[in-house]
Amino acid sequence: DYMYVMKCSKDGEFTKGELSRFGNIQLSPSAGVLNYGQASLLKENGKVLLFRPDHNAVRMQHGAERMLMPSPSVDQFVDAVKQTALANKRWVPPSGKGSLYIRPLLMGTGPVLGLGPAPEYTFIVYASPVGNYFKEGVAALDLYVEEEYARAAPGGSGGVKSITNYAPVLKALSRAKSLGFSDVLYLDSVKKKYLEEASACNVFVVKGRIISTPATNGTILEGITRKSVMEIAGDQGYQVVEKAVHVDEVMDADEVFCTGTAVGVAPVGTITYQDKRVEYETGDESVCQKLRSVLVGIQTGLVEDTKGWVTCIN
Ligand code: PMP
Repeated sequence: DYMYVMKCSKDGEFTKGELSRFGNIQLSPSAGVLNYGQASLLKENGKVLLFRPDHNAVRMQHGAERMLMPSPSVDQFVDAVKQTALANKRWVPPSGKGSLYIRPLLMGTGPVLGLGPAPEYTFIVYASPVGNYFKEGVAALDLYVEEEYARAAPGGSGGVKSITNYAPVLKALSRAKSLGFSDVLYLDSVKKKYLEEASACNVFVVKGRIISTPATNGTILEGITRKSVMEIAGDQGYQVVEKAVHVDEVMDADEVFCTGTAVGVAPVGTITYQDKRVEYETGDESVCQKLRSVLVGIQTGLVEDTKGWVTCIN
């Protein structure tokens, strides 16, 4: 129903924002480039819960800095997300039937013709109910290792949540989907041997009690779910390692799983790389399922939040 809009003038100060009816916004054809971040909202027993909104705020600030944009303060960001969530509360799906997805957008809306930063910016937060990522229980993902198209190059924008990372890989994703895969697994763009991430989630590889995940070296997004799952896995006694993960190690793993706001923690059933296809453990006893039940439990209020990750706003 409602969106939150806040403008930033040339001096870099965001003015007080306000809620308005959701609708089209007017943009000059010469408006500058965009950058976005996201946060999630869930509800259990009538409570509206936000998962780590402050971390999403800081991530937007990092993205803004990389894209030469001013950004709202953490307080301004979190307040805008809360107001948007509460104003759209009637759209929060019933317990277990999905969540209300909150999307904050920061964009250069002032006119600019030559290459350079826009003179004015707009911060918008809108919301949409989304169903569960997995319609019929958690299904294992089938991933295709992409070798032709790269997601991000060293020094580029892969480390921040920017729209510039998504358009270049739409073709790879659509090709993988047409071949029956769920998603694409990207390799580094230099050696084409080291694991990066999937289209919108981070990736973990399990061998025995060791859980490895690609180090955030500027080409992959530092997911908030990734960070949370690393902490939960450490609490449970697993050895969590951030490093360069070779594709051969992925093909030799016991388990592979993905993490992200939309998927939560999702098991990978198969990976196809060149002419090889490997199957992984995905059962109820898997590391992935154990970590998933803790994380999703905390997010939905079913598991006690001893970490202070969840904020109830009503
Ligand atoms: N990588 C990419 C490219 C993404 O778009 C996302 C989704 N935001 C993630 C990883 C996972 O990040 P998060 O856990 O913060 O949702």
